[in-house]
This record gives sequence, C-alpha cells and structure tokens, in this order.
Amino acid sequence: MLLDSCGRCSIQHAVDLPSVYILGVRVDRVTFQQTLELLEAFIAQGTPHQIVTVNPEFVMLAQRNLEFRKVINQSALALPDGIGVWWASRHLGYPVPERVPGVDLVMRLAQLSARKGYRMYFLGAMPGVAARAAAVLQSRFPGAVVVGSYAGSPRIEENAAIVQRIRAQNPDILFVAFGAPTQDLWIARNLEALGVPVCVGVGGSFDYIAGVRPLAPQWMRRVGLEWFHRLITQPWRWRRMLALPVFVWRVLWSKSNWKDPRPANPPSHL
Ligand code: UDP
Repeated sequence: MLLDSCGRCSIQHAVDLPSVYILGVRVDRVTFQQTLELLEAFIAQGTPHQIVTVNPEFVMLAQRNLEFRKVINQSALALPDGIGVWWASRHLGYPVPERVPGVDLVMRLAQLSARKGYRMYFLGAMPGVAARAAAVLQSRFPGAVVVGSYAGSPRIEENAAIVQRIRAQNPDILFVAFGAPTQDLWIARNLEALGVPVCVGVGGSFDYIAGVRPLAPQWMRRVGLEWFHRLITQPWRWRRMLALPVFVWRVLWSKSNWKDPRPANPPSHL
C-alpha cells in the first residue's frame, strides 16, 4: 500500500485507504492482514504514526469532544474495533471487511515482534499490570522484544519525563493504556516528541492480557457479544455503556435522514 506524508509527521496517513465516516468519525475499511502490513510499513518508514481503535464509545465521545474527533480523523489508522462499528459501517453501505480489536492487535504485534525483532514498549494501566502483560506475551511468543513497561500517568506534569523514558528505549511500537479518550489525546500531544513509528491506544488490553480482567469467551467474541460480557463482569460500567444503544439509534436516524453522498462518504464539515 502506498504511504504519503502530510506535514511533518503528526498528520501522516496512508493514502488509498478506504474509510467510512460514522456520525462524522473516521473508521478505515481494512482487514487485519492489511493493518499488520501497514504497521510494518510505518516501522520501516521510521516516522511517527498514531493508531486509534474505534468503538461505539469512541464515536459517541467524539460527538461532544471535538478534539478527540480531530485526533481520530487525522490518525494514520483508525481501526474498526467493536461490533457496533462493524454493524454501523454495513448499515451505512460502506462495510469494514472485518473487526480489528485492540487486544488482538497487541497479541499479533507481539507475535510479529518475536519473528522480526520489533521493539515494544508498554505504557499505562495500574502499577505492575503493563509488566505482567508484557511477560505473558513474552512467554506466549518467545523472542518477543519488550524494551520497557511503565504504569505512568497521563497527567501533564509527567509528560516530559515519560516521553524521555520511552525515547531512551527507542521502541518501534508503543502501546498506551490510559483509557479513551485520554490515551489517544496523550499520544497526539506527544507523537512528534516520542518519534515512535507505531503508537497505539489500547484501552483495557493490558488488563485482559495480564488476566486482571476476564476476556469474553471466544464464542461470545465471535458473535459480537463482548459488550454483554463487559456488562455482566463490569456492571459498574452500565452508565458508560448506555452509549451503545444511543449509538445504534443515532446511526439508524442518521441513515434515514441522509441522502447518500456516494462516491464520497466523508461529510463536508470535516
Ligand atoms: N488507566 C490508566 N490511567 C488512567 C486511567 C485509566 O492507566 O488515568 C488504565 C486502566 O487501568 C486500564 C486502561 O486504562 O488498564 C483502560 O481503561 P478502560 O477500561 O476505561 O478503557 P477501555 O478498555 O474501556 O477503553
């Protein structure tokens, strides 16, 4: 796939990348394999790229947080994480080929690291969790290269010290688990200073990989019921999860009030 760079490095994106805009939020229509190929190309290129994993909560947050929306829409890759995004892309007539969940991406990149020596850094989550996730991945994929892990904090006062700490290890891949939108805004703010070719916001992925939180069973993931698993295992999140039905309703409503703008799906206000 061709790569193009606009500006110095914060707005680098892949050209020829088909996207769908869901309620004004970009999601790239890429397969898992294309994602991995693109990420490898970013690493070969060496300049920093931001990757976001978009789910319905992101889309709803981005309705009122315009900075977050801008970060997603200007990222190098906006991946379709979440069954809701998969469904919405189909409903709008611009289907994403498959889902690319953040937690699976972390595992596949660890596997690639074992094969190709890519240097990975794990930032975020509760103290000890990032290191535990890294250790789990190293035992699962012997040879995977972990150059650092640090709980850190997204607080602005810690910014410079964390960037310095990461730069010192010269990673190819940086996973950031501060939750959305904090992690994605943090990456956008520090992308150029970090200089890491692949910077991905990964939400609760470290918690799942480290076994701190249970991952939904494979059959539930396959049929897209992770949200239900989340609701029963983390019932305190019910308020946040109300974003899901609101998302569905908004997508249905937007379609019925929308004159199909083919061939260009991006709304003109972007
Ligand atoms: N987290 C963190 N610092 C913060 C807020 C959150 O390290 O200030 C971590 C939290 O421990 C968890 C991760 O961010 O590991 C993702 O949190 P959440 O479950 O809210 O994200 P989601 O998976 O819903 O995107």
